[in-house]
Amino acid sequence: MKPVVELKTLHLTTPFRIAHGASSSRQVVRLSGGGAVGEAPFVPYYHENVESTLGWLQAGQGPAPSRAAELALDLWRLDLEGRRAGSPLSALVPVSLPKRPGLIPGCRSFSIPTSLEEFAVLVQETAQQFQVLKLKLGSGDSEYDGQIVAVARQAAPKAKLLVDVNGGWSVTDAAKMILKLEAYSLELIEQPIHHDGGILAWQELRLALPRIATPLYADESAQTAADVPALLSLVEGVNVKLLKCRSFSGAIEMIQAARSHGLGVLLGCMIESSIGITAAAHLAPWSDYADLDGHLYLAEDDYQGVTFDSKGCLIMPDAPGLGVRRR
Ligand SMILES: [Mg+2]
Repeated sequence: MKPVVELKTLHLTTPFRIAHGASSSRQVVRLSGGGAVGEAPFVPYYHENVESTLGWLQAGQGPAPSRAAELALDLWRLDLEGRRAGSPLSALVPVSLPKRPGLIPGCRSFSIPTSLEEFAVLVQETAQQFQVLKLKLGSGDSEYDGQIVAVARQAAPKAKLLVDVNGGWSVTDAAKMILKLEAYSLELIEQPIHHDGGILAWQELRLALPRIATPLYADESAQTAADVPALLSLVEGVNVKLLKCRSFSGAIEMIQAARSHGLGVLLGCMIESSIGITAAAHLAPWSDYADLDGHLYLAEDDYQGVTFDSKGCLIMPDAPGLGVRRR
């Protein structure tokens, strides 16, 4: 069976601003057929070709031209197989991989604010439900970046705070900022330096830093399981996303690679609908942090899957496959 291939534009309620730039809509490729559905987003900084992705998914010949093509097809197939077998996606995770017991707190991310006053109110409101908050830094002004953290800490004194710089600092600025931010008891700082600098830049950063308490995580520098070994002793954890790994099993491999070296796992996502978010959420019990709120930025999310309880913890749908259904 071949799925129906569709290009969809998802509109955001408000523009999302990070160090890479701002965006107010995102495109996703969606597959449906046999009662199953799959989806993968086009992320601006990957510059993946929409035409060749759609063409490959329709013709199905040769190697996949993009991450989006490979992931969308993988998720559709897994949803189809899961629905037929009556088992959820999470059943594919090997039992040997250590699982986290109990409820899993979800994380809410904040794009780089334009008004610190409005930001303080937003953080305070969000912290009434969510226990884990992620702040996007890399505004281009490290003083302002510092103020963002200070304002958030004051607005949400009890929240676990994660910081994601998206590579927005130079090695010199990163060393200064990481030391300065030690005062805020952050859970972690993600991708402080640009991934273009490679392993060398991470080594320079570590040399410039004394012993610090804040764990450093790699996101853009760690795309797949193969990137993990070179980052050992340079980071305390990695961000695992389905799109980076191109498949659900690729993400499992990356988690296994991280765990086998004693590294932490932050499960991440892109701005995408409940289809992609719910697929990733099946891995949440095997992560330390579940940053899966990409669907909450959408003006219209036409699917329903993972949701959050009153304390911001993940509620998985009780259904086979991805477990999502059309609203
Ligand atoms: Mg990140």
